[in-house]
This record gives sequence, structure tokens and C-alpha cells, in this order.
Amino acid sequence: MKLYNLKNHNEKVNFSTAVKLGLGQKQGLFFPVELPVINNIQLSEILKMDFITRSTEILSRFIYNEISKEELYKNVKTAFSFKQPVKVKITNNIHCFELFHGPTLAFKDFGARFMAQMILSINKNNESVTILTATSGDTGAAVAHAFYKMKNVRVIILYPKGKISELQEKLFCTLGKNIKTISINGSFDDCQNLVKEAFNDKKLKESIGLNSANSINISRLLAQICYYFEAFSLIPKEKRNNLVIAVPCGNFGNLTAGLLAKSLGLPIKSFIACTNDNDTVPRFLKDGQWNPKKTVSTISNAMDISQPNNWTRIEELFNRKKWNLKELRFGSVSDSVTKETLKELFQLGYVSEPHAAIAFRLLRNQLKKDEFGLFLGTAHPAKFKNTVETIIKNKILLPNELNNRINLPLLSYNINPDFKKLKQFLIEK
Ligand SMILES: *Cc1c(COP(=O)(O)O)cnc(C)c1O
Repeated sequence: MKLYNLKNHNEKVNFSTAVKLGLGQKQGLFFPVELPVINNIQLSEILKMDFITRSTEILSRFIYNEISKEELYKNVKTAFSFKQPVKVKITNNIHCFELFHGPTLAFKDFGARFMAQMILSINKNNESVTILTATSGDTGAAVAHAFYKMKNVRVIILYPKGKISELQEKLFCTLGKNIKTISINGSFDDCQNLVKEAFNDKKLKESIGLNSANSINISRLLAQICYYFEAFSLIPKEKRNNLVIAVPCGNFGNLTAGLLAKSLGLPIKSFIACTNDNDTVPRFLKDGQWNPKKTVSTISNAMDISQPNNWTRIEELFNRKKWNLKELRFGSVSDSVTKETLKELFQLGYVSEPHAAIAFRLLRNQLKKDEFGLFLGTAHPAKFKNTVETIIKNKILLPNELNNRINLPLLSYNINPDFKKLKQFLIEK
């Protein structure tokens, strides 16, 4: 698989290098030179396969010449060795596709665990690797657990202090061993900028074997394509031509993966790009002005991102496929409407959480008569226990994944958003 840097099309790398580098020169994102396409006959066969076999098939369309199918199958099986996504009926024509049954209770487990397998698989010489990543909540946990106790891998996770839920924090800041966590006195965008600066520092990058695990890493995006096929395979045949999928967006990795699934040949009619008040993309789609504002804190904190990294990939994909951005549906939902929506869902018999609720809201507003809608359940409601319980006035039970960590002490360090401080940490700890 060849990929080019979106900021410098002359920089071309193979899949392994793209996985190792994360970002290219000038912090450009990598994008596939070739966009594979599956024809209708292949598609109907692929849809009949079990999740692991199908996912291997899809991934091998991209990386067949670097990792054999046999090896890939093993990697996929190890990476996705947890309860598969579940489709839950909410109304007659709207279902939730729950992606949060992995070890850290969010869809990020798919990308992070597949990436961990890829890093192991390409690190044949057992060199030491430092994974540096920024998280707005759920990436950190997924990455930490995916690499926990892995030999030769040190993981450093930055997160905005006080801006992720207490339970989210407990899930990954209590592990220790090869997992180091740093709370940053700033926003997620500050964390992301620190990571970018570290990658710009060539010497540092080489001396500590720096690798990113953000949703910018191509291996994570590819892994996420797989569950869109699973979703499609679970939809009744007569609804498949009119499927609309609402995606709660932060850094827009999940939506990028969905669009890549469509570009492969999965006939999804339309996507809705859903945000909270950090609505850079919805405003852009409305008036054509890219005008990020200061990030605001909301109850859907994993989406508190005003400069979504993956957006350039989405633009590139639309250009390459000659799709029109006007066909991408969008919307943003305020905290107060999100709360109302959580109550509405509860009355429909479903306990949700703020991120999915945003997607449900826009889906139920925008779905046309003959369409069938899926919204992605990106995290388990228990991760946002306090918020959700206050809103629905009911108790939520903690699943074991959280119960086991709740009383453990936090092991995080704390620094200001100052690159010198981070660099010192990277060298010394
Ligand atoms: C990460 C995350 C999102 C946003 O996903 P992106 O791929 O960054 O757009 C939405 N909801 C939850 C619960 C998340 O953890």
C-alpha cells in the first residue's frame, strides 16, 4: 500500500512507514494512493462472512502486499477479540449501532488494538518505541490498554486536565508499568499541538522512536472501516438502499473510516456529520468558511475539538471520488438539546450517553420517510455515569471494566502546555 502526504504529494511511503511515522513532513496526513473498490458480487460475498474473516478481507485490499492474509487474519483476530458490535432497535426506522463492547468501552478499541498489532508486526527487530498520543477522553484508554505490558513499547498519553470524565481518567491513568499519563493544563487542541511539536523535533523523534497513536494513524482508520461493513450486514435487505448513518464527530476519524467504507463500494446512501457546539465543520459546510473558534467544554467531551485533524482526508476523498461535499449531511447540537435528547431516548427505553445522543438527535431530525437510520453508539453510558444519571434520574450500573479500576489511585503527572517541559519528560522518564 502506497500513501502520500496531503501536504506534500511527493512524499510517498508504504503502509509500515506510515504506521511508524504517524504524520509526514510538515505534519501532513497520509492518504492512500490507490482507493480499492469491491464490486457487487464480491460485496455480497463479503457481507456473508463472519466479522474476523470479513475484516481481514477488507484490510487486505489495502495492505495485501505488505502483510500476508494469514498474518493479517491472526492480527485481526487478536485485535478484535472482544464482544462484537450490537445493533439495538430504538424506533421502527432508527437503530443504534453499539461499538462500545470492547475492553475500554468505546469504539476506539478497534483502532487502537489493531494499531498495536500492526506495530508489533512491523517492528521485527524489537526496537524500542515510544507511543505519544493526545486524547480527548477515550483514545487514551484504548491505546493504553492495547499496549499495556507490551515489550519494548512505552506509551505516553496527554489529556486536558479536568476536561475528561472521572471514570474515563480512572480507566487509563491507573495502569502504570509502560503506560505514563500526563494531564495538561489546557484544552485537547493544546495536547494535540504538543504532540505535533514533538513530531517536528527530528532528533527527539529518532532518539526515542516516536510513534503516534492518534486517529491520524492510518492503521486506526483502516481498522474502523471494518465495522461499517458489519453494520450494513445487520440491516434488513429491503432497507439497505436507503441507509443513513449518523456519526458523532470529534477528530473526524470515525467519519473518515465510514466514507472509506463507502468508497470501497459499501452502498451507504448518506452520512450525517454530527458535532456539539465545537462546530467548525458544520459551519464550514454551511458557508464555506473554515473558521475554528476556541474549543468549548461540553458534556460530550470526546468531541470537544475545534480543529479536527482528519477533515483534510475527508476533503481529499471527496475530491478523489468526485463526490460533492453538499451531499454530506451535518448538524450540531447544544448541551441543553443533548440533555433533552438523552431523556427522550430514556423514554424510548434506551439508556444512552451524550455523544450518541447528538447523533440520534440529528438523525431523527433529518431522516426522510423512506430512509433507514443508524447512529453510532461510540461509548458505553457508564463512562459518563454522573452526567447521564443526573439527566435521566436513574442509576447506571458500572460494568466490570470500570468497577475494577474505580478505587485505584491516579498515577498521572501534570504539566503546562509547554513543549520544553514535555520534551524533558520524554527524554527523562
Ligand atoms: C473519539 C470519540 C468520538 C469522536 O470520534 P472521532 O473519530 O474523533 O471523530 C465520539 N464519541 C466518543 C465517545 C469518542 O470517544
